[in-house]
Amino acid sequence: MTASGHDFDGVGFDGVERRGLMFVLSSPSGAGKTTLSRMLIERMAGLKMSVSATTRPMRPGEVDGRDYFFVDKVRFEQMVKQGELLEWATVFDNRYGTPRVPVEAALSAGQDVLFDIDWQGTQQLREKARADVVSVFILPPSAADLERRLHTRAQDSEQVILGRMNRAAHEMSHWAEYDYIVINHDVDEAFAEVQSILKAERLKRERRTGLTNFVRALQRQLEK
Ligand code: 5GP
Repeated sequence: MTASGHDFDGVGFDGVERRGLMFVLSSPSGAGKTTLSRMLIERMAGLKMSVSATTRPMRPGEVDGRDYFFVDKVRFEQMVKQGELLEWATVFDNRYGTPRVPVEAALSAGQDVLFDIDWQGTQQLREKARADVVSVFILPPSAADLERRLHTRAQDSEQVILGRMNRAAHEMSHWAEYDYIVINHDVDEAFAEVQSILKAERLKRERRTGLTNFVRALQRQLEK
């Protein structure tokens, strides 16, 4: 049961069975994607975060198994070889990947899964499961805003911040591969936009597998 009292065992908010979707948020680091992801998880029922595996060191405040599964390079390689990852990529010299099993289980149970992954991972998900993927690219309103946010975060060294600034332009060049673009001028507005995308995508006919039966039942009742 979720906070709203609905059971998501393959059934949507209105009682019609549906297949879950893969909701991907990407952006250069510092554009507010992590905050938006947290807001979505807190406020949208039926949405669960995909926890990635990574070889990067843990930052202060991060929790193993909640923010990431922190693994060493050998274990990561093993996960790749054994087909445990749905997608993987190297970002800032570290490896990141999405564990396959929790995602597949959630989707077939009619739950949506939220991904905070980069454009390389998004491309791989799209190649594997186009119909299930809904992708959103978050842009900062300006370069100055991005730099300020990277500094406020204060979790990385000056050198790492510079590296992230340099990569931001490159990452942004992939914006046109995404289904939706949100410019994060204001976090509440950006959240409202991302939330509307998810709400509308949940209503897409193709993923509402129970509609045929639902309409048939309606027709039977009407024809009595
Ligand atoms: P950070 O180290 O700041 O947590 O993440 C760095 C970048 O790696 C972010 O752009 C984030 O979206 C991306 N990332 C995190 N997990 C994954 C993953 O499982 N796969 C891919 N492809 N990218 C990821």
